Amino acid sequence: PSLSVYDPPPINAEFSANSTGNLNRRANATLLMLTRNVDMWDALTSVRALEDRFNRRHHYPWVFLNDEEFSEEFMRRARALLPESAVSFGLIPKEHWNQPDWIDVARQNAAMKTMQSRNVKYGGNLAYHNMCRFNSGFFFRHPLLDEYKWYWRVEPRVKFHCDIFDDPFVYLEENDKVYGYTMSVHEIPATIPTLWKTVQDFMENYPQYMLPKEDNLMRFISNDNGRTYNRCHFWSNFEIASLDFWRSEAYTTFFEYLDKTGGFYYERWGDAPVHTLALALFLPRHKIHLFDEIGYQHDDWSHCPRDESVWRRGRCLCDARDGFDYTSDSCRRRWDALI
Ligand code: GDP
Ligand code: MN
Repeated sequence: PSLSVYDPPPINAEFSANSTGNLNRRANATLLMLTRNVDMWDALTSVRALEDRFNRRHHYPWVFLNDEEFSEEFMRRARALLPESAVSFGLIPKEHWNQPDWIDVARQNAAMKTMQSRNVKYGGNLAYHNMCRFNSGFFFRHPLLDEYKWYWRVEPRVKFHCDIFDDPFVYLEENDKVYGYTMSVHEIPATIPTLWKTVQDFMENYPQYMLPKEDNLMRFISNDNGRTYNRCHFWSNFEIASLDFWRSEAYTTFFEYLDKTGGFYYERWGDAPVHTLALALFLPRHKIHLFDEIGYQHDDWSHCPRDESVWRRGRCLCDARDGFDYTSDSCRRRWDALI
């Protein structure tokens, strides 16, 4: 029988080859977007893209979170785009968003002003600091996520370049993995002056959470066996991962230890390095998966599958030669070298 445009041709890539291809098998998963009302059209653009490339075959539910009440218009338009999916809209509790009361606001304001004057990206933007802390320590505690085991983080205005025929949630679950990503990148040094020192202190204080050195991913995050952080991190605007990892005692203890130093406000720690450092210290390499088949674009940075057969099967709308993976800002080579 000839293939319809909706049928996936066979393929041999790791993720596809290890998926059952059985659409009846579902994971307990949700698509998750944190967004503002003012970004409605960008948000809906991402929703439409992921629905077209993936979710129209699965109808995974969507959860939208916001630090303000979603507007009627946002909810109406999102529901209209998603007639066959369960959609929910959540308000983030103030205590998960605003800086905690033990933050010295004068010190925070001075630090933000200094970062602003030095052009540290988002350094002077309080909402951005709140967002990074929320995505580090709180998103997985939102009641709307309680029922789920897996999430796929989606941001407004991203692109999905290729058809995604297989189910990445089911793939992670069946292969006993915890975290999937597409791009890895070096953090801006001025955002994290004391992050590594804080993580080293944590490691000393909580050895019980550390994976033995031989097994962990220190080689991905450090070029000198842990003396310094090389700033490599999984780019967290795209994550397909287990909520239970973040809910774990090891991670929540790690987050609280970091949070207590105030580094989310006195510096501008991002959720991406925070996530990555925990993953690298607590998990072995085989628990983390690079979803090479999932062509993806965030701002100007793009991941496009290089393998011709993968690209063709995915009917990708991207050129791997324009991709970010093998540029100097990327950590892809370092990841490849781990295997
Ligand atoms: P970048 O990717 O680091 O440049 O930052 P973005 O502006 O894309 O923000 C990252 C994520 O946080 C996106 O999902 C945004 O929609 C969300 N976000 C950022 N700031 C706010 C905010 O003040 N309120 C809400 N509700 N979402 C925010
Ligand atoms: Mn973004």
